[in-house]
Parts: sequence; structure tokens; C-alpha cells
Amino acid sequence: MKVLVCDPIDEEGINMLKEKGFVVDYKPSITAQELKSVVSDYDALLVRSRTKVTKEIIEAGKNLKAIGRAGVGLDNIDLEAAKAKGIKVVNAPESLTQSVVELVIGFMIALSRYMCRADKTMKEGKWLKTEFLGHELKGKTLGVVGFGRIGKGVAKVAQTLGMKILVYDVISVDQKTLMEYDAKQVSLEEVLKGSDFITIHVPGGPQTYHLIDLPKLKLMKPNAFIINTSRGNVIKEEDLVYALKNKLIAGAALDVFEVEPPTNKELLSLDNVILTPHIGGETVEAQRLAATLTVSRLIEALGQ
Ligand code: NAD
Repeated sequence: MKVLVCDPIDEEGINMLKEKGFVVDYKPSITAQELKSVVSDYDALLVRSRTKVTKEIIEAGKNLKAIGRAGVGLDNIDLEAAKAKGIKVVNAPESLTQSVVELVIGFMIALSRYMCRADKTMKEGKWLKTEFLGHELKGKTLGVVGFGRIGKGVAKVAQTLGMKILVYDVISVDQKTLMEYDAKQVSLEEVLKGSDFITIHVPGGPQTYHLIDLPKLKLMKPNAFIINTSRGNVIKEEDLVYALKNKLIAGAALDVFEVEPPTNKELLSLDNVILTPHIGGETVEAQRLAATLTVSRLIEALGQ
């Protein structure tokens, strides 16, 4: 069987395919046009987020039996078209969890100790020691919005740092789980009002679109921070900019944006926000796990 790898994939995943006897063509920068012209030669495609597996590609893939997406979201694959042709689609949503958890903890410490501003001003030749009087995380309250894989992972580390945990989720979390994290499940309003740090871990989509807007941000304490590593449009960005500019909240850290790369110049100029270019899952370990888990599921989907 032949597999076409369309995006950069960790070589451990590629080796697994070869060891199983698959013929693997590695074309990590293949164009949409090229893909359309060669896809009929392959039994399976392996992609990350760059390659768009559209209806057109799926229909041209006369021999396609499975598609692997090494990572979380499946928004770059036309699932309906794949289903209509009986093509299996597999991914590895759990592979990036630990890396995102660690980024969130990094954001919490960087925000509460003004690490980015301290670094920037030091490099400008300044020594602003007294301006950066920070806070410990110990004893503070963390509000987790979306208590799934990543939300739970962040809560676990925060618990060991001595933080109190408030949880908001559309699903009712059972008492045993809440006890495991010393957490309390409350309404979104209570999370916003009662937390020193709020971290967002809900899925994207119409249900969570602009879940956090100005009226919600106004509920937060003026010394609280908000962190978003989920999907950009879960927070209404222009409202967040307003809240940050007018010091309605102390600061924010964002890994995801309504438009990526972000175009909002005001957001890019604020000094009470830390920005990273959607790097939540960008670690060697997460990418290796995404590749190996997806490949093992792809092999299974192909019945090998
Ligand atoms: P998950 O599916 O394990 O957890 C999501 C949780 O959100 C679930 O408990 C669900 O019940 C809850 N939820 C759903 N709708 C909700 C709503 N309207 N209000 C409150 N809670 C709601 O997902 P996960 O693996 O923890 O991922 C969380 C988010 O992180 C996703 O948006 C994912 O796309 C994103 N993510 C980002 C990166 C990155 O690079 N920054 C990497 C991986 C995942």
C-alpha cells in the first residue's frame, strides 16, 4: 500500500509506516494542484494542518482508504466527503495536551512576574526592579473554562502549586473527579468573578464563539489575568483589547487569535499581553507523539 505524507511529520511516524511495509512518499510541501494530480496513486494520506483535504482531493483519490491527521483539529479535512466515500479519518487529539499544559503554566508565571516586560526593559538598558513587584501563584484561584484533557492537566499542576481551582464546563463533572483536583464546579460568571487567573480550554465552533466578550471581561477582578490557548474566536478580541487598554483586567496571554497571524495592531502594541504564534503543540515531544499515535491508528484503519 502507498501512503503520501503531505506535511512535515516526525520521522518516527514515517519509519513506523516503512517497517510495516508501506511505500511512503514524503512530500512535505506539496501544493494543492500537485496533490490533486497524484492522489489517485495512494491508499492513504498523512497530513498536519497545512494540507487541505478538500472534497475535490477526496474525489480525485480513487484508491483512498484512510486519511491521518497528525494532531487535534480536523477542520482541514472535508469529513462529509470522506464519509460519503467510506474513507476513514484518524487523528490523535491527546498528543498535544502536555505541551499546551506546560505553555499555560509558563504563561501564568510569566504574567504574575512580568517576565516579558522585565526582559524587554533589561535589554533596553533599564533596571526597573521595583516596578516588577509580582505575586506568587500559591493561594490564588485558577478558573478553568472547559475541563477536558488540557483543562484537567493545567488544574493538576496548579493544584500542586497550591492554587484553588474553580471549574466551568457544560458537562457536569462528577464529585470524585472534582475531589481529585480539589476543584469546585460553578457557573461561568462565578469563575470570572472569583478567579485570579482564567484559562480557556473549550473547543472552537459556534457554541463557544465569543464566549468571552466585554460584559464577561467586566466581571473579572481588575487584578486578574486571562489566558487563551484554545481557539482565537472564543474571546472577542476587540473587547479584550478594550479591557486591557482600560485596565479592566491586569493582563492576558494568547497563543491563538481570531485571525492568524493577528492583524489587530492595538493588540500587538499592548504591554500587558503576552503573545505567542500558536505554539501550544509545537514541541518535539508532542509532534512525535502526534505522528506515532496517528500512524498507528492509520495502520489499523488500513487493516494492516
Ligand atoms: P477536550 O475536548 O478534551 O475538552 C474540552 C472541554 O470543553 C470538554 O470538557 C467539554 O465538555 C468542554 N466544553 C465544550 N463546550 C463548552 C462550552 N460551551 N462551555 C464550557 N465548556 C465546554 O479538548 P482539549 O484537548 O482539552 O482541547 C481544548 C482546546 O485546546 C481546543 O479548543 C483545542 O482546539 C485547543 N488546542 C490548542 C492547541 C494549541 O496549539 N494552542 C493545541 C491543542 C489543543
